[in-house]
Amino acid sequence: MKRLSWDQYFMAQSHLLASRSTCTRLIVGATIVRDKRIIAGGYNGSISGGVHCNDEGCYMIDGHCARTIHAEMNAILQCAKFGESTDGAEIYVTHFPCVQCCKAIIQAGIQSVYYANDYKNHPYAVELFQMANVKVKKVPFEDVFELKEDSLSGKQIAYIKELFTRLEENGTGKEELQELHDQAERLFKRGS
Ligand SMILES: [Zn+2]
Ligand SMILES: [Zn+2]
Repeated sequence: MKRLSWDQYFMAQSHLLASRSTCTRLIVGATIVRDKRIIAGGYNGSISGGVHCNDEGCYMIDGHCARTIHAEMNAILQCAKFGESTDGAEIYVTHFPCVQCCKAIIQAGIQSVYYANDYKNHPYAVELFQMANVKVKKVPFEDVFELKEDSLSGKQIAYIKELFTRLEENGTGKEELQELHDQAERLFKRGS
């Protein structure tokens, strides 16, 4: 079985957090990492105890949802709340950070930003990251699931076996069966 890289592992964590988002305008997750250790995580949501956008609708001001605290900001604020230093840390985000989050990331001393999806990539945010010497690298979402494509689940294997049994029952010739079998083996061979 293929071993998940750290980048893919932390990015997977951010995608998992994104699924907790309550503002349906954008499903975002962020994970802050220091020395290969997750120190905080956040997703797009309201203040603790506040109403959720997915229940009440967004609170729109000037084309933005005013209720939502962005995932990156939530992760940084979690560090402030619990006294974890973000100096020299890394952040894994599902989407390229907005200008506000970009500034917060820089001021928190975070040195690397890994993002999975391009999202409006504001030129000013790009410029600020460059100016502050923050490393920015795209780690696409697909990479995270490479592992899943390579290793079949028990159910998938059972399904393929069932298909072969039925083919045999329906009178498919031995040669043809063997051919199909070889083809399946090539297609679904586990990654070494
Ligand atoms: Zn909202
Ligand atoms: Zn933001």
